[in-house]
This record gives sequence, C-alpha cells and structure tokens, in this order.
Amino acid sequence: MKKYLLAPGPTQVSPEVLLAMAQPILHHRAPEFAKILERVKQDLKWLYQTQNDVLIIASSGTGGMEGSVTNFLSPGDKALFVNSGKFGERWGKICAAYGVKAEEIKVEWGYAVKPEQIKAALQKDPSIKAVFTQANETSTGVAHPIREIGEVVKQFEGTLMVVDAVSAMGVFDIQTDAWGLDVVVTGSQKALALPPGLAFVSVSEKAWRQSEKAKNAKFYFNFKKEREGLAKNQTAYTPAVSLIVGLDQSLRMLKEEGLQNVFARQGLLAKATREAMKGLGLSLFPKEYPSDAVTAIEAPQGYDGQAIYKDLRVKYGVTAAGGQDQLKGKVFRIATMGYMDTFDIITAVAAVEMVLKGMGHPLKLGTGVGIAQEILLKK
Ligand SMILES: *Cc1c(COP(=O)(O)O)cnc(C)c1O
Repeated sequence: MKKYLLAPGPTQVSPEVLLAMAQPILHHRAPEFAKILERVKQDLKWLYQTQNDVLIIASSGTGGMEGSVTNFLSPGDKALFVNSGKFGERWGKICAAYGVKAEEIKVEWGYAVKPEQIKAALQKDPSIKAVFTQANETSTGVAHPIREIGEVVKQFEGTLMVVDAVSAMGVFDIQTDAWGLDVVVTGSQKALALPPGLAFVSVSEKAWRQSEKAKNAKFYFNFKKEREGLAKNQTAYTPAVSLIVGLDQSLRMLKEEGLQNVFARQGLLAKATREAMKGLGLSLFPKEYPSDAVTAIEAPQGYDGQAIYKDLRVKYGVTAAGGQDQLKGKVFRIATMGYMDTFDIITAVAAVEMVLKGMGHPLKLGTGVGIAQEILLKK
C-alpha cells in the first residue's frame, strides 16, 4: 500500500530536499559548510521577515520553546501564557519546570485568545516579563491574532512577546519585526517540510537585553553562545549537518516560489479542505479563525474520530491525525502545511469520503472531491 503523509508534523519532504540530504556528510567546521550556514542564516531572516538573529538549534521544536523560557527569565519571574490547547499547555509546563510564575489565560478549545485579555492582564501587572502564546494551536486548528497581540505587548517595555510559530511559520503571514515579536520559535518538520530535528528561534534586541538579566539554569540551549557562533557562521555544538543542507534546499524552493505565493497556496489548500468537509455535512472544530496549517474536523454524530483516523491509515495508507486529550475521539485532523499541492488535498478528501462511506455514514462519494476541485481548478 502506498503511503500518504498528511499529519501536522512530521510533514512530507520533497525529493529535492531528500536528495540534498543524501549527500556525503560535510564537516561542520569546513568552509563549505560555513557557506551553507551563512546562506540559511540570511534565508531564515527572509522567512521570518526580520533583521533579528534567527538561531538554529539541533532539537525538536520544544527545545526552542524551552530555551525561550530559560534564556529570558529567572526563577520567580512572572509570565503570562495562553492556554487554548495542547501546545499552550506546554508553555505552562515549561515555565513551571523552571520556577517561572506563569499566569494562565485559559481559552476554551476551539477559540482564539482576545488581545484585550492580554492587555487587561498586563495592565493589572506590568511586572510580567513575557507573554507566551502559539501562532497556531495545532491541537485545535485555531490561529491566534498574533499581530494584534504584538501591538498590545509592544506597549509594555518590560514584557517580551514570545510566539510558538512551529505550525505557522511558512504557512501564513508572520511579520516578526513589523509586529514586534521578540522571540519566535519554529521547527523543521512542519511547513519547512524537513525531517524533524531542528528548532529555529528569532531574538529581538529587546529580548537580548532581557537575556542579560535572566538567571535561569541553562547549558545546551544557551542562546547567547549560539548567537556568537552564528556571527562566525558556526553553531555552538555539532549541528545537524544533513538537516541544514536540507534546509538550504527547502528555503531555496520557498524563495523561488515567493513568500506571498507560499501563503496563497497554503491558504487555498486549506480552504479547499475546509469547504470539502463542510460540503460533506461535517463540522469544523474551530469556532473562529480556522488556521491554514491544519484542519480539525468533528467526527459525525455517532462516529469515533479515532476510528476515522485509524481507517484512513490502515485501509488507505493516509496518515492524518486524531484528536488530543479532550478532543480524542471527537475530531480528526488533516494537515495541509508544507510541501503540499492540489492532489494531496484531493487524496485526503477522497479518503475521508471512502472511510466514512465504509463506516456506513450516508454520503455521496465525490461530493467533497468536487468541491475541492472547483476551488483548486486552474483556469
Ligand atoms: C509541532 C509543534 C511543536 C513542537 O513539537 P516538537 O514535537 O517538539 O517538535 C510546538 N508547537 C506547536 C504549535 C506544534 O505544532
């Protein structure tokens, strides 16, 4: 059976990137490798729309999140975190692990945080040193209004805006500098369409200043050390050489396509997925701001979301995702971020139709596919 990867990470990797990574290993202190690092360093700034340093770390995305707590805060410092799903919860857990007193803004799953909630919390306590949020909460498929939140946090001189954009960077517009985003984290295995294993973190001057005062324990995720290395086209420790060679290729392809075209493609693919699901009579889980990275779909009444997810994989070789925690059994998720195009969507929609039909759910095969085709048709 042929396999199709439509999960919210890891995502599909293009043949071009796979071939680039298959080359013999370069030594990480060799001039050839420094040249590649110099190029990806610049290209990451392009992707992030920033003049800030974008650090490259060998870890999964969570390592970038952890470093974004330890490098800017001290034990006992106050912070604020948005919890609207599984990944928001993670900010709280990391803060707790390092003795940061993080106040939670709890948002019902399926909804986005309101910038006014952040504003009210910061006005009440301006000693809060950082606001942690997701750009896209992958567990619910909801995007937060990052631009507006950035505008709020910008007004508070002693507060950093820290964004987990792991499932957002390269999917939709994230203007790091223009929106005042101090620290922005992403990972290799989502929209960058690389294997897992790299985290990227941009750091603003405001954040570097705050890092000078941060007393939290850290060793491997030492951003200052990474910054010094990167200035010389080096990393502090042995980098994931092959992944960085793949990154060079992935960024080259994104640049050839153009950032706005990438966003437009990602947006259209997600729209086709959403409309096809609605056309099948299914409800989308997000109550507002459905993200273009991943679509969370409610299982029809009387059907198990986990069973849908399982049938997709077992019967048709389509790996999507189920629901996490409180959404387990209630939803299934189809990711369209990264190296995706028209027929990935057609495949996903057709497979959902066949799985539901196979389970006895009444629907006319081809309904969703037809809707997706209309949206994706090139004239
Ligand atoms: C995937 C993801 C992460 C990173 O998870 P890792 O497994 O550590 O790579 C973090 N935040 C969000 C929103 C994600 O989607």
